[in-house]
Amino acid sequence: MGFGEDAAMNGRGSKEVEDFMSGLIKRNPGETEFHQAVQEVVESVMPVVLDNEEYRKAQILERMTEPDRIIIFRVTWETDDGCIRANRAWRIQFNGAIGPYKGGLRFHPSVNQSVLKFLGFEQTFKNSLTGLPMGGAKGGANFNPKGKSDREVMRFCQSLMTELHRHVGEHTDVPAGDIGVGPREISYLFGQYKRLENRHTGVLTGKGLSFGGSHLRKEATGYGCVIFCQSMFEERGDSIEGKRISVSGAGNVAIYAVEKAIALGAKVITMSDSTGFIHDPDGIDEDKLTFIKLLKERKRVSLEGYPDKYSGASYHAGKRPWAVATDIAMPCATQNEISGEDARELLGNGVQAVCEGANMPTELDAAHAFVEAGILYGPAKAANAGGVAVSGLEQTQNAERRVWKAERVESELSTIMKSIHDKCVEHGRDGDRINYVTGANIGGFLKVAEAMRSYGAV
Ligand code: NDP
Repeated sequence: MGFGEDAAMNGRGSKEVEDFMSGLIKRNPGETEFHQAVQEVVESVMPVVLDNEEYRKAQILERMTEPDRIIIFRVTWETDDGCIRANRAWRIQFNGAIGPYKGGLRFHPSVNQSVLKFLGFEQTFKNSLTGLPMGGAKGGANFNPKGKSDREVMRFCQSLMTELHRHVGEHTDVPAGDIGVGPREISYLFGQYKRLENRHTGVLTGKGLSFGGSHLRKEATGYGCVIFCQSMFEERGDSIEGKRISVSGAGNVAIYAVEKAIALGAKVITMSDSTGFIHDPDGIDEDKLTFIKLLKERKRVSLEGYPDKYSGASYHAGKRPWAVATDIAMPCATQNEISGEDARELLGNGVQAVCEGANMPTELDAAHAFVEAGILYGPAKAANAGGVAVSGLEQTQNAERRVWKAERVESELSTIMKSIHDKCVEHGRDGDRINYVTGANIGGFLKVAEAMRSYGAV
């Protein structure tokens, strides 16, 4: 069964989805993450395409699943002890129909073309949902910053930008951070761009406040995810206050999701990293979160030491937090971190909502299970759009050569997240339920499709 309201009700469009996917898989062999991301969208939007002859004639769906271009290049750099290393890097400019390309850079050994194509494709819909004029892109390298010295990371970033600078620009393509690319990496990348181009311009977002960054950019994805979650509860006359939240991840998105959740009175009982998860039944409060920030942002070590400081908490090596009974699951680490089995366990334990801070953290069968169960399920392209939204506001500030006050940025973020929520409700209403997956996919699709149709054959 699919996500689309119509497809779910009477199978309408399911044959077309199958045919479309079989062509896409043939054209993009072995790119399983990309297939998964496309399937989820096509299941939702096929009924819309079938109802619109112009979209069918213009092959909108076929064109929207083909990147505008893929740039792939070698990054050669030198270790501290003088050895030469080479990595592979990409920038995938997926769809520029509604604005200059915008999307993060990821440095992680698991990065490959399939992962970046799924992320670039998702980004196109997410950026459209924000209402800001931003096309979709993603990039990165199979480089692992872990265990590298600051100087090594600097040399890698400088080498990468030496090639990338000719493909990006404030009116062309504006990268930002993602997994493995935080303030340190953005600073090195921006410094090298400025040196090569001799222009101080908004070519990257997530910059430091002293050189063109925006207040609240680092908090934006996590804060936005919690605001979206709160909006889903408010839609049915409830709130996240007093609810237990299981968060995965302990990086940029997770840390600020936890910060906002605490501020709104929820009880965060888990966090995780690539080595395991912590369970704190008493709830992670502001002091405990400060300690986690110290471990992850400063010392860059695992969460293993947390229970030594906070008795009552436990650490579970090599495990994910989904077997712990909770009211809200908020995956904020990486793709495909909730399997079908995890979903059944969460549902069995009475989970009321799943709200995605990470990109595509839920496998397709798990996502289907959440939709079928009728719980509140906020998909990534809507729930985690706060980061790119504030990136868009950073671009505006750079163009104006002004820095807005933190309160103004926070209020704009809140307005944008609520408007994304309302778009999902508008396009996802299904009787007395709201299918946020359908709502986000159709809401994101329409604006891009309209722009592509208007351009004619380009
Ligand atoms: P970070 O690198 O800051 O943090 C990632 C966290 O997830 C770390 O705690 C890391 O563990 C953990 N993690 C990474 N890979 C794995 C894995 N394979 N298995 C288990 N845990 C893992 O990244 P972000 O917080 O920026 O990004 C997290 C997610 O949110 C990604 O899906 C990203 O695409 C998405 N996202 C990020 C945005 C942003 O503004 N940063 C915007 C929108 C989406 P460890 O600490 O051990 O490395």
